[in-house]
Amino acid sequence: MGPVLYGVRLRGEAVLALRTGRAVVPDRGLGGARRRSRRRPRQLRAPLPRHLGHRPRRRRTLEKKVRAAVAAGKVTFKFRYRVDELVTTGGAVTGVRGAILETGSAARGTAGCRTVVGDFEQRAPVVVVTSGGIGANHDLVRQNWPARLGTPPKSMVTGVPAHVDGRMLGITEQAGGRIVNPDRMWHYTEGLRNYAPIWPKHGIRILPGPSSMWFDAKGRRFNTPDIPGYDTLHTLGSITASGYDYSWFVTTQKILAKEFALSGSEQSPDLTNKNIRQLLSRIRQTPEPIEKFKNNGVDFVVADNLTDLVTGMNKLTGDGLIDLADLKRQIEARDREIDNPYTKDVQVMGIRNALDHVGDSLSRTASIHRILDTGAGPPHRRPAEHPHPQDPGRSPEGPLRTGPEQQRGAGTRSLRRR
Ligand SMILES: Cc1cc2nc3c(=O)[nH]c(=O)nc-3n(C[C@H](O)[C@H](O)[C@H](O)COP(=O)(O)OP(=O)(O)OC[C@H]3O[C@@H](n4cnc5c(N)ncnc54)[C@H](O)[C@@H]3O)c2cc1C
Repeated sequence: MGPVLYGVRLRGEAVLALRTGRAVVPDRGLGGARRRSRRRPRQLRAPLPRHLGHRPRRRRTLEKKVRAAVAAGKVTFKFRYRVDELVTTGGAVTGVRGAILETGSAARGTAGCRTVVGDFEQRAPVVVVTSGGIGANHDLVRQNWPARLGTPPKSMVTGVPAHVDGRMLGITEQAGGRIVNPDRMWHYTEGLRNYAPIWPKHGIRILPGPSSMWFDAKGRRFNTPDIPGYDTLHTLGSITASGYDYSWFVTTQKILAKEFALSGSEQSPDLTNKNIRQLLSRIRQTPEPIEKFKNNGVDFVVADNLTDLVTGMNKLTGDGLIDLADLKRQIEARDREIDNPYTKDVQVMGIRNALDHVGDSLSRTASIHRILDTGAGPPHRRPAEHPHPQDPGRSPEGPLRTGPEQQRGAGTRSLRRR
């Protein structure tokens, strides 16, 4: 039995790090009110935005200070107040005007309610706009797309909620604000469509370890620095230069189990909760959110051999661009280098480098193995003077088998759960 192989189709994830200052009236609250108190003002019991990432302690520190400021009457939240205009007097911004929105509970995967139930005006000696980025507004992303990154992808997934729409940028400009560096955007290129979206077009980013092989849409292996986890903006340029808006990871169950982390607190309870035991359990088993994505995500193709994998990849895209012989040649060329202690395959060198670091070796890098290994060969061992501690006693080649073979299929997908 050969290894279980995965072709993972990746799409650009529009996360834009473009800031416009500080917010006047946030649409949603800081939340995080896990410990609820009757004495606490109602507005502070808002739930924590789901998309926030892996800095719970820092967030709590900030939250504590803001709550103290609320208690001292220095800060007031106005939820569901949407700024539509900056008020100017004599050339200076002196306040904000806007609409009060209906409080609705939007269904998961949809944009929030925007029904207007009133209006408001607020005067202030100083107005600072902190309305976030533009990542959910793909038109604005394309409009501001930097030439250095090539042509913007035709299709993107979205790493931020619908309210991150950049609307305040235009409003700020109308009031005389000067937007600087609008092309300084940050996109991740390892986006997957979320099978259970929280917001429209919800993309989840793989935070990858160094071992998956990365190919463009035509199945050509990327060169350094376009290696998983290395240089996302450079890789974005390489993907757009390929003429297609997607790329592929070719990987194994072993890599998937140890190296795939998914962005967002829902997807990475081990990281978000700083649970070392849960984190280290990756040594033995694939984290549950990863398994779920593998089984339900529309961008995964799973097969027992390369022939079936290529068939599945070509079927998923409908483009028929992957040539089996060519892909095999490239994977074999990489696999050969596993036995070469003096290899110049930069990715293999990078994997060894990661394995020499105890943190990466324990929780973020699979022991080095051939992608196409049949599982019959002896496990590769580093030279004795460079032992690496992970996975003692386990064959690096074999897939993790967690259950009976089960065929799943829907349209263009052929998933096999193990
Ligand atoms: C999945 C995911 C994971 C992440 N993980 C991490 C991580 O681990 N560590 C990290 O440091 N960062 C992480 N980030 C990034 C981080 O969340 C953002 O960089 C940060 O929240 C941006 O803060 P901001 O205040 O600039 O904008 P936002 O948090 O977007 O705040 C802008 C606010 O302005 C409000 N607003 C906008 N327009 C108006 C208007 N017209 N009227 C009234 N209010 C308005 C919005 O509703 C919003 O509340 C992650 C992001 C995502 C999506």
